[in-house]
Amino acid sequence: MSETQAHPEIRDAVRKLCARFPGPYWRALDRERAYPTEFVKALTEAGWLSVLIPDEYGGSGLGLSAACAVLEEIHRSGANGAACHAQMYTMGTLLRHGSQAQKDKWLPKIATGEIRLQAFGVTEPTSGTDTTRIQTFAKRVGDRYVVNGSKIWISRAEHSDLMVLLCRTSPRDDKGKTSDGMSVLLVDMREAKGRGLTIKPVRTMLNHATTELFFDNLEVPAENLIGKEGAGFKYILDGMNAERILIASECIGDGRFFIDRAAAYARDRSVFGRAIGENQGVQFPIARAHVQVTAASLMVDHAAQLFEAGKPCGSEANMAKMTASEASWYAADMCVQTHGGFGFAEEYDIERKFRETRLYQVAPISTNLILSHVATHVLGLPKSF
Ligand SMILES: Cc1cc2nc3c(=O)[nH]c(=O)nc-3n(C[C@H](O)[C@H](O)[C@H](O)COP(=O)(O)OP(=O)(O)OC[C@H]3O[C@@H](n4cnc5c(N)ncnc54)[C@H](O)[C@@H]3O)c2cc1C
Repeated sequence: MSETQAHPEIRDAVRKLCARFPGPYWRALDRERAYPTEFVKALTEAGWLSVLIPDEYGGSGLGLSAACAVLEEIHRSGANGAACHAQMYTMGTLLRHGSQAQKDKWLPKIATGEIRLQAFGVTEPTSGTDTTRIQTFAKRVGDRYVVNGSKIWISRAEHSDLMVLLCRTSPRDDKGKTSDGMSVLLVDMREAKGRGLTIKPVRTMLNHATTELFFDNLEVPAENLIGKEGAGFKYILDGMNAERILIASECIGDGRFFIDRAAAYARDRSVFGRAIGENQGVQFPIARAHVQVTAASLMVDHAAQLFEAGKPCGSEANMAKMTASEASWYAADMCVQTHGGFGFAEEYDIERKFRETRLYQVAPISTNLILSHVATHVLGLPKSF
């Protein structure tokens, strides 16, 4: 399978790096809900987190498909890229919409790992997916913005130096364009913590370093506004296509991890005097998972190619993420079933990956919202909200 995939050298190098962080490393972190600092450091030093940063800022200047290969291989190896994947797509907001001064200031440091841009603050407790109803407000006062409000599910906030924050700079206009009036600020977490920003970890069913944020008169320099005031929603949407395609690659990696493990186990495990994999009742779900993951992978490749060519890819990115997340979830369920009782044993890593891959049907965007997008934007059906 791997021989025909794009970026074989990258895949090989990432696999070798991941081999230094085997199951016991991830299990121990999972138990403690601890951050994989050494793994992120190794990825940063090897340059894998800066593949999308242009050469002139110290990155590799590669296209999205290279980043997809990195994340897919991380996940296929049994590791998890969630601790650091945001650096790849949040950086794009700065790269595409930041001023020259902002790019010169931050991108080279992000490329070396001196500065971590891992946090992306959009979701709020009351508005949920209805992003235009966010309430976190940044009021311009002289040369600063004063931010008040709260965010939920903001992952890696405790392990990031910078955060791309979406907030309102003018109230929602129900009669006008509801997405106007939102802005993107680059928040320096090192200065913000304890001076208007409080971070509260949220323990979840997977090890994801996610948090709740509270802003109480947090002051952010006005020079940290990205792009134009009021046009932030467009910048965030723009980055979301990359995010969805990258996350879809993680799902493909997860799916392949489950298929690799299930096929190996089905060959080795002998019950009733023969390998369980000799039974078609065991074989077929593994084969079906392979078919589904392969099909989803083609959709991810297609979406990545459109993105790299600078073509519109919103629907393709969404559809790729949905198909890949459903394929990985089917593969996860199949893998547990193939392992019988051992699918539940911590030391097999299946139950951990099972919990981890469930996330992708909810975040970064839930399946229903993708179906709604396809129904109304692709198929021209009437809007329901
Ligand atoms: C572990 C984790 C990490 C996350 N990390 C980040 C992060 O770093 N930054 C960030 O900003 N956010 C993050 N999120 C938030 C994530 O993007 C949201 O949870 C996700 O988009 C769903 O939004 P919600 O939880 O508010 O669900 P809601 O919007 O409350 O929706 C709940 C359910 O109702 C369905 N639903 C809602 N409205 C409709 C409708 N009109 N029609 C049909 N179905 C509907 C949804 O599909 C969903 O299944 C994270 C979430 C998790 C769990």
